[in-house]
Amino acid sequence: MTTASESTTSKDHEIGSLDGELDGAPDSTPPKEKMDLPRIERAIKEILIAVGEDPNREGLRETPARVARMYAEMFRGLHDDARVHLQKFFTEQYDEMVLVRDISFNSMCEHHMLPFSGKAHIGYVPNGKVVGLSKLARVVEVVSHQPQVQERMTEQIANLLIEELDVKGVAVVIEATHSCMTIRGVRKPSSVCVTSAMKGIFRSNLSSRSEVMTLIYGNQR
Ligand SMILES: [Zn+2]
Repeated sequence: MTTASESTTSKDHEIGSLDGELDGAPDSTPPKEKMDLPRIERAIKEILIAVGEDPNREGLRETPARVARMYAEMFRGLHDDARVHLQKFFTEQYDEMVLVRDISFNSMCEHHMLPFSGKAHIGYVPNGKVVGLSKLARVVEVVSHQPQVQERMTEQIANLLIEELDVKGVAVVIEATHSCMTIRGVRKPSSVCVTSAMKGIFRSNLSSRSEVMTLIYGNQR
């Protein structure tokens, strides 16, 4: 069994190094050439006018350009392919569970264009193909940096592992707080939304499912 966590240093039998691989990772500069920044700027200016603001007052003059760059960053996953991160696997006859816990992420709710953020936990049982642990974090990065809903994001991650690694089972659990619930609407600041996708043996085998849930939650609460 392999577990890893971004927030702990206990790594008994880990495969690959999460921290090491993230160090050499490409930066998060948005692919500007694929984003129509001037168009976003115009739209933000329109919103400012529409709410009754003066987009030319000093404090707001740079805002449309700043927001455009921010959206380019938040949505950079639209121009990235999560699959490529799973295509550098190595062949390993390891058929116990691999779990990466506490992969933090920030995403943007597509219903309100407000951020939601939290942690993703990904467990899988390989079927000959094993990826470096940081690759799972990369997949979360790509999938979260697009207009999203948490339920779909959870499914997408699980399906990517099935399609690219042909895993025997995959369990994805995501916990997140949604600004659209905490700062507006029902205003429930402490609510956490939990979604899960269980496939393969995690769906069919109750003890595998409870094992992964225990590993995710066992020593935290
Ligand atoms: Zn929302």
